Amino acid sequence: MTPNMLCKHKLAQKLQILYDGSIMKVRTKSVHTGVKIDKTFNSVITPLYPTSTFFFDKIGKNKGFDYTRSGNPTRAALEKNIAAQEGGVDCSVTATGMSAITAVMFFLKPGDHVIASNDIYGGTYRLFDDVLKSRGLTFSFVDMRNLERVKRSITSKTKMIWIETPSNPLLNIVDIKGIVAIAKKKKILTVADNTFLSPYFQKPLKLGVDIVVHSTTKYINGHSDVVGGAIVYSTKALQERGRYLVNALGVSGSPFDAWLVLRGVKTLAPRMEIHQSNALLVAQYLEGHPNAKKVYYPGLASHPQQDLIRKQMTGFGGMLTFELNTKKVSLDGFLKKMKVFTLAESLGGVESLVEIPWYMSHASMGAAGLKASGITREMVRVSVGIEDAEDLIADLGQALKA
Ligand SMILES: *Cc1c(COP(=O)(O)O)cnc(C)c1O
Repeated sequence: MTPNMLCKHKLAQKLQILYDGSIMKVRTKSVHTGVKIDKTFNSVITPLYPTSTFFFDKIGKNKGFDYTRSGNPTRAALEKNIAAQEGGVDCSVTATGMSAITAVMFFLKPGDHVIASNDIYGGTYRLFDDVLKSRGLTFSFVDMRNLERVKRSITSKTKMIWIETPSNPLLNIVDIKGIVAIAKKKKILTVADNTFLSPYFQKPLKLGVDIVVHSTTKYINGHSDVVGGAIVYSTKALQERGRYLVNALGVSGSPFDAWLVLRGVKTLAPRMEIHQSNALLVAQYLEGHPNAKKVYYPGLASHPQQDLIRKQMTGFGGMLTFELNTKKVSLDGFLKKMKVFTLAESLGGVESLVEIPWYMSHASMGAAGLKASGITREMVRVSVGIEDAEDLIADLGQALKA
């Protein structure tokens, strides 16, 4: 090919990427999908529509929106974007991650049985084990790394398997395809909480899962200034029921929050790359440090599920957990010395955070639940931000001094 032909060929490829959504690459998708919707003034950025209601031209004729609980153009733009990144048919954006999870649980009826991992997000555990148990659902919390255990937990009432992988805070990996194969045979709905890796590093729908949920509060927004959630559907039927439930329950997200999350999601790819490269360096540093005991991170060779990690994830993410050697360093002393890291719950923001699952994020599980899932008092969960890795390591180093 002559340089000129090559240039034309490249241009054709570029145009295809821009005009054929199906082959848009991931970064292009996150920057462009749903964004350029303003026909009035050609605004490059999605307009914010902070309106509760939309006027009708006459009975039965409006511009596709009537009331913001049911639908809003700004929120619809974000829904398109997240659906495209996960590879779903559609998405509902909700007020919080928990409201997304709550809405999905309304797919079930009293008497139905759910199988979930025993180390899921603390808030999900509380919703399942306390709130929803008293509403007639039953749950089995099992170690989902063991597929036989999952199979044995299935009863004639089992209607849903809840997957969260990597798990929080132990970074255990669940074999998504393995679970889907078990569930499909028995017509059991599978749901995956994909908050920890984001669609950038894991696409559960492509692995056969029916519904993906997100706390967009975390990596998707990425700037710790919004709480939000999302439900992504693999089929039209699930989309219809899900949209109906979100509207009926009244859990949809606000237009302003959607506008902020749409701003955040455009940089998901570069943020995830830096979260990951920083996390790998921090994990390796901690693994070699005498005052840090075990380190849990999927990117370390010491993680026991290497094959599975390489099979279903395209990256390791930015979350890690380690056990502090509290015989050498007190937990309080360590936390007090930190300067770059902030002691706070939540994760997935550009700034690095640490927290203690036993006393903070997972406290609602109670001592028995915590022990059963293998969480200890000495565990420190780290959300590695996008700062310079050298500064993060130096901060940990001075705080880990005996
Ligand atoms: C934070 C989180 C949730 C809950 O989301 P909120 O936005 O806080 O309601 C659910 N699942 C996981 C894995 C989370 O980290």
